[in-house]
Amino acid sequence: MNKKPKLPIEMLIENLKEYKDAVIVLGPDLLGETKIFEIDKESKEVYNRKNMIKEPNKFWNYYINNIMKPMVVSNKITQALNELLKLDIHSHIIDTNYVKTVTNSDTRPDIVSPNGKNNRIECVKCHKIYEADSMIRELGTADKTVKCTCGGNLKPTVLYYEEKYSTPVYNAVKNAVFEEENGKPKLKTHALIFIGVDFTDTLVSELIDSYDALKDHNHFTVVITDKKNRDDLIYYNPEFGAYDDLDQALTRLTELIKK
Ligand SMILES: [Zn+2]
Repeated sequence: MNKKPKLPIEMLIENLKEYKDAVIVLGPDLLGETKIFEIDKESKEVYNRKNMIKEPNKFWNYYINNIMKPMVVSNKITQALNELLKLDIHSHIIDTNYVKTVTNSDTRPDIVSPNGKNNRIECVKCHKIYEADSMIRELGTADKTVKCTCGGNLKPTVLYYEEKYSTPVYNAVKNAVFEEENGKPKLKTHALIFIGVDFTDTLVSELIDSYDALKDHNHFTVVITDKKNRDDLIYYNPEFGAYDDLDQALTRLTELIKK
């Protein structure tokens, strides 16, 4: 792989301040020491669509006891992240975590959560969103499927193991970064910033590859990762990269933008 010349950090800061259209992709390393329940092959046995219909009681209690905890992660990394977000240099946040790491992520319009959020359940018919938190009693004692006011079944937004992204969610991710002009894909953002992401996640690796294929000298890829994932920087060779404690890297970036 060709080594790109190192650019001065001032160029990135200028880009972020001028365009204010960065797309920030968040990954599991933001959770720090907090362990969250893994939606994997094992959970597939209970946490699946069939059980939600056939054994709603078992299904929702499993959901409440495992997947809903914790609902929010707050640590020094997420605090540093939220300070950065206050500077408004971004157009969208793509949060791959199903736990809340961004302040007001339930209501803010700039966030897309491709893997769902553990406090949001959704009607499969009219797509109305309900807060799981305020329905814990109803969910925990359900002896038949839980219904929306429209009659549709309610399901978690947190994806089942190997469940595909819904079309609206997938489009929201794509539309944050790309647009079409005369049938050709074009970039909407001048900086794609990955923070603590897992590049083995297909959605994330697709994003970085497609962005890198389309960008010119005016577009920057930024990867902020912790020391254990240093290899990602070597592999993707972004214009700007840092491998450090995430909170310290984020705080440094915030301070530079504020100057
Ligand atoms: Zn409905």
